[in-house]
Parts: sequence; C-alpha cells; structure tokens
Amino acid sequence: MAFFRTAKVNSLGVFDLTSKGNARTAFRKTGSYFLQNAGKIDLESALKDVSDLYAISDRVGDYIFLPARASSVDVPNENGDCFTDTEMRRFNPALARKSYQTYLMKPHHINHRADNPRMSRGFVVDVHYNDQNPMPDKWRAYYKKSTGVDHPRDVFIEALIAVDTKKDPYLAEGYRTDAIRTFSMGCNCDRTRCHVCGNIAHDKREFCEHIARGKRKFFPSKLFGGLSVMAYEECEDVIFDELSAVDEPADPRAEKGGSAFGLQASRQSVDVLAYLRSNPDNIPHATRVELMRIALRMKS
Ligand SMILES: [Zn+2]
Repeated sequence: MAFFRTAKVNSLGVFDLTSKGNARTAFRKTGSYFLQNAGKIDLESALKDVSDLYAISDRVGDYIFLPARASSVDVPNENGDCFTDTEMRRFNPALARKSYQTYLMKPHHINHRADNPRMSRGFVVDVHYNDQNPMPDKWRAYYKKSTGVDHPRDVFIEALIAVDTKKDPYLAEGYRTDAIRTFSMGCNCDRTRCHVCGNIAHDKREFCEHIARGKRKFFPSKLFGGLSVMAYEECEDVIFDELSAVDEPADPRAEKGGSAFGLQASRQSVDVLAYLRSNPDNIPHATRVELMRIALRMKS
C-alpha cells in the first residue's frame, strides 16, 4: 500500500519563448533557475513525446512557461510532509532517474483531475534541483526548531510548467497576469518515516503515535539527543505525478499582495465573463475570482 500526497506549490514567474529567453515578468524574490536559463529549454522534442497523449498543441509558439517551486527539500510542508535531500537525490533504478526528476513530462491539471490525461492544460517540461538561494532568516529559525537541523540554504525542486495557451486561454491569462500563483503537486510514496522516532509506515495502521495523533506537534526525540522536534513524515520512494492549479488559498510562504494585473484593454472583458458563466466548474474558485476582478477592471 502507498500514500497519495498533495502539497501547495508557488509559481516563481512567467515567461514565453518569443521573448528569446528574457523573462517577461520576474516578480518573485526567490532566484529561479529557469527564469535565468530560459533559452535552454528543448520544448520541441518534448512536445513530440507528449502532445498526443495530453491532447495539447504541438506548436512551440502556443506555450507560456511557469517556473514553479514544486517541492521544498528537507523541511516539512504545511501538511507535515517532507521530501528529504537524500530521497530527492536518490537514483530510482526502475525509472533510471532521480526521485525529483519524476516530475518530468507529468501533466498540468486543474484540481488534481488527473484520471484523464487529455484534460491536461500542459506539462512539466523541465525540472531542476535549486540550491542556490539562502534561507530567509525567519524561516531558517523556524525550520531549525522544527527539524532540529540548521538549513542555511532554501533548497527546492523547481519545475518548469509549459501551459498550452490555445487549449485554455483564460487559464493562461490568469498566469500571464499573475492572478494565479499557487498550484498543488500530487505524488505517491511507498512509505513514510517519522521524524521524531524513525518509525516506518506503509499504511495508516503502521503509524507511530507521533504521526497518528501528534502530527506537526513537538516531541523530544532520541534521534536528536532529547531535543524536541516536530512530528512530520519523511516520504520515501517518491514518484511525483502531476502539478495542478487549485482553488486552495496560498501557503504561508506565498508572497502576497502586489497586484500585477497588466490588462488595460476593455474588449476581452465580455469574453472573460462569458467564459466564467459557461464554465463554472472548469476553473478553480480563486482563479474565477481573480478573472472576474480582471474582467471588471477591463470594463471600467
Ligand atoms: Zn514517531
């Protein structure tokens, strides 16, 4: 038996290839590998592999790109799950790639509706192990307390999502205008290890009391010489399945505020509002709210 896990993900910006590798917008403080190396993407060969499977455009010009902070490494997320450095760099012999690289070519969905690949709005075209950012002071103190270990670097898996702007132009507009910056990743893991006591569980019945009843609470740990650390689960034998747009609120690390709506025209507002009316279940709630706001702004 295995566990299915989800976690919130933040975008790091957006760009398109017509800008010749120059990031069209860079509105995040965190240094993005892909925003700085946009010219290196080989979208054409990737599209040959997946455009039929995901029913997405095979034309490079139809895509925009979203570098996303797909998973933080070695620190617990808001659900009390953790992807360790050891696991992320582990080579999976069956797949012939490292655990973090299992994001590659996986679909981009809305609200984890991953059962039909043809509903995909795009896919993960590249993935990078980003360990180039210093950990902000506030988070460094928080993570030292929770994990029992100092984390001077803010390490995370950076995934590059290619979004088909022709298949879902309104979703793409939400990304372009920075109205949508939060996603969710979905993954499967074979087992989890308790950070407090090291207990390994393959299903809920095997949970120790820390995880069963005390997740995200602090307990003294023999593994850390009696120091109190947070009870969270370290996921092992991880395979990332997809990155979704979701209607959940942003996680504590999302950068809030800073409206970046660039739309000034008024012509599209009717289209946007019509789409919202005809597709009430097709896009996340938060996206609808933001698109509505954009449409109203365009009207005025
Ligand atoms: Zn435990």
